[in-house]
Amino acid sequence: METARLKDNLAGISAAAEILKADGIVAVPTETVYGLAASAYSDTAISKVFAAKGRPQDNPLIVHISDFEMLSDVVSDFPKEARALAERFWPGPLTMVLPKGEKVADSVSRGLSTVAVRMPNNRVALDIIKAAGIPLAAPSANLSGSPSPTTADHVISDLDGKIDAVVMSGSCEVGLESTVVSLSTDPPRLLRPGFVTAEELKEILPNLVVDKAVLEELQKGEKAASPGMMYKHYSPKTEVFLVEAEAEEFISFVNSKENCAAICFSEEQGSITAPTLSLGAKDNNKNQAQNLFSLLRECDSLGVQTVFVHAPKKDGVGLAVYNRLIRAAGFKVIKL
Ligand code: AMP
Ligand code: MG
Repeated sequence: METARLKDNLAGISAAAEILKADGIVAVPTETVYGLAASAYSDTAISKVFAAKGRPQDNPLIVHISDFEMLSDVVSDFPKEARALAERFWPGPLTMVLPKGEKVADSVSRGLSTVAVRMPNNRVALDIIKAAGIPLAAPSANLSGSPSPTTADHVISDLDGKIDAVVMSGSCEVGLESTVVSLSTDPPRLLRPGFVTAEELKEILPNLVVDKAVLEELQKGEKAASPGMMYKHYSPKTEVFLVEAEAEEFISFVNSKENCAAICFSEEQGSITAPTLSLGAKDNNKNQAQNLFSLLRECDSLGVQTVFVHAPKKDGVGLAVYNRLIRAAGFKVIKL
């Protein structure tokens, strides 16, 4: 199939909406990463998303809404904590897992009784949802396993010829997928860290727990609260190791290795002899989040065997950066 390139103007937005209403699939920009959108009411459309991405069949999708009226068709209950979170963080990069509404296709939640929902903070995404008049299920618009797309070019390099259209817009402001919190468990549970931090969530959900899978590999037989957390993800073809170390230790470790590159903090670049890519300044986790997925895609053009990544600290948005990196590394962590 030929993948149409649509502009992010009125004409592009209405063309995207028409494709979506006819059960087609369209990559759209959001503030987190580009999403591969499909009607949340259509099993036909959802099956196309799974096929184009090669997404594991047990991994449910996030439903995107443009206004609160849509919510009543998506969830069957919207408790007061959810209301408080929505007031503070929507539109924005926070996804809530809640009891599923009947109209949402069963294939969106892969048989779970819950559904993940958010209101994105991106004008083009909101206008497309509004113009289509239906909530849109949208996972990241990449091939399953590869780094999530933060530019339209990333989408094209993974999915050209496999989807109906891509809306060509700017690069994503946040750069990492949304924070996912389950309100269907007691206590509420952080399933995936993101730009909305655990610390911020705890101001509204004081008893929030962080799911074990956020920072650790699940063992065989352990059940994932969020199926997506089980998979190796975000990986370039080059072998990646995550290195937990102080700056000096990291620099001498990388300088002692051959046929490698480093993803490091900008302050360290001048001291490393191997090729380097800068994640951003050590203390600027938000900038690291914006850069991460582009850098992981760049790794494969460096022509080296191994990439060592200097691990950020695990608080604030750093927890989200660390969570993606440990998966990009297939859980291979070197502690110096
Ligand atoms: P992606 O769309 O690729 O950003 O991934 C969506 C993430 O949300 C995955 O980690 C899913 O496992 C998770 N998710 C979606 N729906 C649910 C649900 N009903 N319960 C738990 N996790 C969910
Ligand atoms: Mg994804």
